[in-house]
This record gives sequence, structure tokens and C-alpha cells, in this order.
Amino acid sequence: MAYDPNNVFAKILRGEIPCKKVYENEHVLAFHDIAPQTPVHVLVIPKGAYVSMDDFTANASLAEQGAFLKAVGDVARLVGVAEAGYRVLSNCGVGGNQEVPHLHMHIFGGKPLGRMIGK
Ligand code: AMP
Repeated sequence: MAYDPNNVFAKILRGEIPCKKVYENEHVLAFHDIAPQTPVHVLVIPKGAYVSMDDFTANASLAEQGAFLKAVGDVARLVGVAEAGYRVLSNCGVGGNQEVPHLHMHIFGGKPLGRMIGK
């Protein structure tokens, strides 16, 4: 899938629309999801133009990849869910039900989350 520079997260990165920022560094931005599905629901995104996890690992530098992974854990601590527990999830592609075509990791927490996939 080609990167669409008009996707909503690209607009957030360009400052064209606002976000509730949690964390930022050279390579990464994290902000609260606009429609939280759990009491804590944060999105971590790389600043580079990558659609999905497979696009990212194929095309991003190791510095970008390392910064992204580190930010996920750091943000979990920052927003206070590390001790009680949390879930990270990235929807990728059509079959993964990805709505925004800019790589993002969801961090869910703030309540017991149950099983990942119901039995
Ligand atoms: P996904 O289905 O993994 O692509 O999820 C996209 C997520 O982005 C959803 O949880 C949306 O609520 C969230 N989202 C969409 N627009 C915004 C926005 N402007 N600011 C913050 N989160 C957003």
C-alpha cells in the first residue's frame, strides 16, 4: 500500500490538526486516541512516512525502529499503566482492519482487559 500524505496522522505530524500529546522525540510522537476504547488509550506513531509494521521494518532506519519500540514501553510507563498491565496492538492492512494508513501502536490500559481473543 502506498503512503497517503493526507492521512489524519500525517496532518497531526504537520501540525495541521491538533492532538493531545503525551510524548515526543526526534523519531516518535504519542498522543491520546480521539475515541478511547479503554480508560487509557494512547497511540504511538513514527514521524516517518510508513504505512504498516512490515513497511516500517523494511524501510525505516534501525534508529527509527529502535526509537519506536522504546517509545512504546516508555509511554506505557509515562501514562501510568505499566504496573497494572496494558496491551499493545497494531492493526495492519485491510485484513487487520487498519483505518488510518500511518503506522501506529495502540496502548490500551486503565482497566482489566480480558482475553485478547474471546473463547
Ligand atoms: P486503526 O483501526 O488501528 O487504524 O485505528 C485508528 C485509530 O485512530 C482509532 O482508534 C481512532 O479513534 C484514532 N483516530 C482517528 N483520528 C484521530 C485523531 N484525529 N486523533 C487521535 N486519534 C485518532
